[in-house]
Amino acid sequence: MLVVDDVPANLDVVVEHFREESLRLAVALSGEEALELVEEDPPDLILIDIMMPGMDGYELCRRLKSNDHTNDIPVIFLTAKGDAADEERGLALGAVDYITKPFSWPILKARVRNHLELKRKTDLLAQLACLDGLTGVSNRRVFDEHLEVEWRRAQRSGLPLALLMIDVDHFKAYNDLYGHGKGDDCLRAVANSLSAQLRRPADLFARYGGEEFVALLPETDDRQARLLAAQFCADVAALGIRHEGSSAADHVTVSIGCASLAPQRDSPPQALLKAADDQLYVAKREGRNRAC
Ligand code: GH3
Ligand code: MG
Ligand code: MG
Repeated sequence: MLVVDDVPANLDVVVEHFREESLRLAVALSGEEALELVEEDPPDLILIDIMMPGMDGYELCRRLKSNDHTNDIPVIFLTAKGDAADEERGLALGAVDYITKPFSWPILKARVRNHLELKRKTDLLAQLACLDGLTGVSNRRVFDEHLEVEWRRAQRSGLPLALLMIDVDHFKAYNDLYGHGKGDDCLRAVANSLSAQLRRPADLFARYGGEEFVALLPETDDRQARLLAAQFCADVAALGIRHEGSSAADHVTVSIGCASLAPQRDSPPQALLKAADDQLYVAKREGRNRAC
């Protein structure tokens, strides 16, 4: 928790009263200092005094709430300003709570605990909303968002954006032969193995749907994309998962369609999807267990 107050003695009492609580406290003597600390090490909760010289508490809250990186940090005002209009203004700015002085320390502590618990749950939900439930890799929603963002970035930079569409071969037959449970295990193994190959922070591996996965690779040309796709095919083969219903091999394999494009100003990201999907179709037609 970060506590912001221009009076050092006020910070001291807060630190003293929260000594027994299991939380890590940071303090700031001004709005400016608070913004710096939040940038370095985002807290889970911020207690803000309103009356401060320079940037006041309202302005600090307004800035936190208008920045995408900080707007999900709950803010509590802790202030001597007791008018209903002041409180209304604080809450309208997005504060989760408004506590006027004098206040009871046990109640303040209870409120802080409650808001921290809510923040923990909100963070967990936000995290889960990005993951595919079966495999634990990023889900389709995350991929769609990244594709939009990276496509626009590539339009600005003129650098190529690559996409690999990865489809498990004869997976219907795999389910029919070994059962859906084993099918799920197989998808998890493929996802684990391939996602572990991507090491650059901007690369994204995601489940596109069913037995299809995607890898989105910024600043990657066709030669690099082809190398990675060949590596992916080899990695899945190396898992050595028996598949007696496949015409491509005696083990589970994937087909991969690769595309790398330096996007035109006015072309949509679907152009990249279409190009990779077309190549996936070619890989299937040419016998599967290959990258095209
Ligand atoms: P191809 O080589 O042409 O890709 O053939 P395929 O059998 O893999 O393709 P098809 O699209 O006919 O079948 C995909 C199968 O993937 C059918 C579906 O039941 C299975 N599948 C999709 N999602 C899941 C899943 O979450 N778990 C399991 N076990 N199977 C799934
Ligand atoms: Mg498929
Ligand atoms: Mg398939």
